[in-house]
Amino acid sequence: MKALVKAKPEEGLLMERVPVPEIGPDDVLIKIKATGICGTDIHIWNWDDWAQKTVPVPLVTGHEFAGEIVEVGRNVDDLKIGQRCSGEGHLIGKHSRQSRAGKFHLDPQTRGIGVNEQGAFAQFLRLPAFNVVPLPDEIPDEIGAILDPLGNAVHTALSFDLVGEDVLITGAGPIGIMAAAVARHVGARHVVITDVNPDRLALAEKVTDVVPVNVATENLRDVTARLKMREGFDVGLEMSGNQVALDQMVETLVMGGRIALLGIPPGKSPVDWSRIVFKAITIKGVYGREIFETWYKMIAMLENGLDVSKVITHRFAVDRFQEGFAAMKSGKSGKVVLDWV
Ligand code: NAD
Ligand code: ZN
Repeated sequence: MKALVKAKPEEGLLMERVPVPEIGPDDVLIKIKATGICGTDIHIWNWDDWAQKTVPVPLVTGHEFAGEIVEVGRNVDDLKIGQRCSGEGHLIGKHSRQSRAGKFHLDPQTRGIGVNEQGAFAQFLRLPAFNVVPLPDEIPDEIGAILDPLGNAVHTALSFDLVGEDVLITGAGPIGIMAAAVARHVGARHVVITDVNPDRLALAEKVTDVVPVNVATENLRDVTARLKMREGFDVGLEMSGNQVALDQMVETLVMGGRIALLGIPPGKSPVDWSRIVFKAITIKGVYGREIFETWYKMIAMLENGLDVSKVITHRFAVDRFQEGFAAMKSGKSGKVVLDWV
């Protein structure tokens, strides 16, 4: 089969022919229809320090996918050939305290497809049946292919009650933008999204009803005054990984405000902890998606009016993957989807 492989410990990915994976008794084989390119895939493409420490070579990359089940292992009795699906790319152990408590997303042994294990940028993917998420007919393959990052957005946005709240999202990348759409969908009052990239802010406005703020040229305090917020934002969703953004969030939050942190800062970042203490701010780190409560909620929201389709800005047949990665690296794209059919 064709697959996008990190074939050598160097920059780039190669389209290669590799064997179709053999499935075990508890697995399914999925024929891939569409895949999303993630920021993680760009790290792997660039072969940066993190990728060199994390990714074995050779490896089939990719973890955002939708497809159709074409083979089921002998112990799998709840999934049928022909079922359209996406799936959780985090492969978890079942023996940790957290897993045994049903908090699968907190299992410390988690391994990622396309990062530690063979991935989804291929014509076929082997996946434990446990990880499969069936897709309803109303959700097209290209949306199925971005449920992993939508899940990050949903998990983060639903960390705190947003009904009637003023929400600040820092970072208008695909995940920040989708989180803004989710915040609106669940009934936030004002949703303000910041970035320093005007293309990203323009895209945010196309996808959902938000107040975009370019913090390179505008003062966030002026915006809270214009929106008649008396004391500041109630909830912050940090989705940039940028230290300046986190500082601005802490500054503009109300006393007792709440922050969910999804963005990954590069290395250790200085934080003004006394400010956080004196403002009595609650901070929650967010990793991945809740398995499978986030999947349940995001599919329910997609079936009931949540629309993130405009966050997909580029579509390429998989043979043009180079253009897809270039679009992602340009900083001008939202989600880029590769079509495998
Ligand atoms: P992205 O890199 O596409 O978007 C980040 C955005 O932040 C960019 O548009 C950038 O211009 C913007 N930004 C930079 N400096 C800023 C500043 N000072 N203020 C406001 N915005 C600023 O990333 P993404 O794919 O949307 O993912 C968002 C973040 O979440 C990334 O940091 C990513 O690594 C992280 N992530 C974490 C998890 C997890 O499990 N915790 C999972 C997926 C992604
Ligand atoms: Zn991803």
